[in-house]
Amino acid sequence: MTDDTRAAAPTPASTAPPAAPPIARLITRLGLLLTGALLTLFAVLAVLHEVVNRRADLQGQLQALAGMVAHNSQAAAMFGNSAEAAEILASLASAPDVTRARLFLPDGQELARWQREGTSGTCHVLRAGGSGLQARWCGMALYLPVVRHAEQQGLVAIEASLAGAYRALLGTLLFSGIAAALVFAAAVPLWRRLARRVAGPLDELVEVASHVGAHEDFSRRFQSAANAEVQALAAAFNAMLAQLQQRDGRLNEELVQRRHAERRLNDLAYLDAVTGLHNRHHFMERIDQILAQTRQSGQTGALLFLDLDGFKQVNDNLGHEQGDELLRQVGQRLRNSLRSGDVICRLGGDEFAVILERVGGLPQVESLAGKLLDELAAPYTLGRQVGHVSASMGICLLPEPAGAPAPTEPGAAAAEREAGREAALRHADAAMYQAKQQGRNCFRVYRPGGSESAQQRRQALRGALAAALQEGQLALAYQPQLDLASRRCVGMEALLRWQHPTLGAIRPMDFIAFAESGGQIVPIGEWVLQQACAQLVQWRRRDPQLRVGVNLSPVQLGDDAALDRLCGILADSGLAAGAVELELTENLLVDRSPVMLGRMARLRAAGFGLAIDDFGIGYSSLAYLDSFPVTTLKIDRAFVRPLQEQAAHRSAIVQAIVAVGRALGIEVVAEGIETERQAERLVQLGCRIGQGYLFAEPQPGAQVDHWVQAPPGSDLAATAPGRIADPAYPA
Ligand code: C2E
Ligand code: CA
Ligand code: CA
Repeated sequence: MTDDTRAAAPTPASTAPPAAPPIARLITRLGLLLTGALLTLFAVLAVLHEVVNRRADLQGQLQALAGMVAHNSQAAAMFGNSAEAAEILASLASAPDVTRARLFLPDGQELARWQREGTSGTCHVLRAGGSGLQARWCGMALYLPVVRHAEQQGLVAIEASLAGAYRALLGTLLFSGIAAALVFAAAVPLWRRLARRVAGPLDELVEVASHVGAHEDFSRRFQSAANAEVQALAAAFNAMLAQLQQRDGRLNEELVQRRHAERRLNDLAYLDAVTGLHNRHHFMERIDQILAQTRQSGQTGALLFLDLDGFKQVNDNLGHEQGDELLRQVGQRLRNSLRSGDVICRLGGDEFAVILERVGGLPQVESLAGKLLDELAAPYTLGRQVGHVSASMGICLLPEPAGAPAPTEPGAAAAEREAGREAALRHADAAMYQAKQQGRNCFRVYRPGGSESAQQRRQALRGALAAALQEGQLALAYQPQLDLASRRCVGMEALLRWQHPTLGAIRPMDFIAFAESGGQIVPIGEWVLQQACAQLVQWRRRDPQLRVGVNLSPVQLGDDAALDRLCGILADSGLAAGAVELELTENLLVDRSPVMLGRMARLRAAGFGLAIDDFGIGYSSLAYLDSFPVTTLKIDRAFVRPLQEQAAHRSAIVQAIVAVGRALGIEVVAEGIETERQAERLVQLGCRIGQGYLFAEPQPGAQVDHWVQAPPGSDLAATAPGRIADPAYPA
């Protein structure tokens, strides 16, 4: 790893203190700094030494020259012979550093002078009164008396320049500078090498640790031929890795065992040990799910009950082992004859059940049933015996056909679900019993109350619905929504009614599903909105605050053109924004695609309020509720019913929904209030608005008209009327 890559290595978590520079770079930097400092110190000392030496040399030289001149000029000074004196002074020319000289007489008069040619300027002024040695940075001057027989005859003054010394010094400096630079250049690789030697093993250790961390590869080891300390570190690190490797291995093994055990447990819980098919436990779970699905989607499913004919004889004659083998082969044949999505279970003994999630209609189921029976009736080989075994089959279509005692709402509460499941099982069992009675090796379909099949009845209704809208058989009923504290009517929910000329009142739950699958729900929904708007315009003359809720099918929401027409109807009515609230089913919230959000936003922009109907029973999580532009949550009556009981935990869900509504600024409306106790509890829990049979069942507009009253303070204010029955559901 180079210095740079080390510097760029990812820094640890943001909370860690900022990392110091890498060790190798630190060592190199410090080393070079040290080398530089030593070289500089050495150079300074060398220069100082040189300067001192040169000055001492010059001083000695000057003294010798002055002594010689003083001695030679004794006679010239005594006789005032300036020519001789000048000659003596001129002899100084042979000494290169001497620049000037003077000879003074004792009375201060200058007898002779000499100056080196080419020198100019003065470092010292040579005066008659001078004495001793005078030193300056530029040079030195020395005064020496000329003495003869202890009598002073004159004074010699000589000046020497230090320029020569400095020139030599410069040379020395240049030389030592080059030498220092060379030494410095040689030191760089040396320090780098040293840095690598120290930091290299650490880098390797970091690399191994990172690799182990990133790939969880505990088999890696750190090998280093470095110093004893690093080797000790490597040994400790490797020992740690070995431990981790062992532990990791154990953990993986445990995990595999655990998964295996879980799968075994799951198999035991949901699979039949003999046939490998699903067991009764799984069957119960799936039938609930599929019943709910078929009810919500309006699609048809089927439940098939099979019982082998004469299984007891096989067990008795061939033994239990062969009995089990027969069951296995039956299971295998069922598997081979059905689609992978179909649910095949062994309920126990020689009873099997098949759930078909989606079928086209009864004829398709009947044809499949025939084929299954033929398949099962083919000869079986058990040991050395070959024999025939047949089966009897009962069929029941899912969900419960119209007219059967089925729950009134999609995905209703657990009790209703259980009732639905029990009914389906009972009916399939009854049909199977019929098949047994009618000669075995055949199937029978459960037909509620008569010879006409459920499918036929559905078909009849489907055909009749097409005409219902044109022939004015459809009508709206309105159910008041009250402010629970004041019992004042604040809104109405519009609910569809079909008054069939011969079949009588048909409940929405019995025809809306196929109105959706047949596409008629789109024009019907538009008609409903038109009616509700017209009615609300009238009511608003009395109570300008009144709102109306209109149910919107997922099919309508999925059709952009239909949505445009709904927006047009609202605009044409001239009603204010928020006057009409569209009620959507909760499971629409599962789809948070931009398309869905865009549609909701479009409806909101057009002035519709958006309510989530039957809230709490579907898939919507409170967590992603805030992604949708929802204005109201309607608490499903499955959660209102338990408020009848005292226990506090029975109100937990309502409490949670009210809290979420409050937090998100969404209105909460309770549905299906049937008792005063429920109404009271709702007020206590902070739910402001509610609807239900306690106050009024859905009725034609004219019959709920008296609920619409002028806002408080107006003369029209009257006492709230009592409960009136819904004509669509005679008691
Ligand atoms: P929903 O929207 O949940 O409507 C409430 C249902 O609960 C209504 O049934 C109403 O009569 C019933 N209900 C009201 N108060 C009580 C009460 O106190 N106790 C009990 N047990 N039930 C009460 P309804 O009228 O049979 O409507 C059933 C469903 O049909 C509605 O459920 C709604 O999903 C659908 N529906 C009704 N009208 C329309 C419509 O115009 N368009 C669409 N797409 N669906 C509609
Ligand atoms: Ca509704
Ligand atoms: Ca509802």
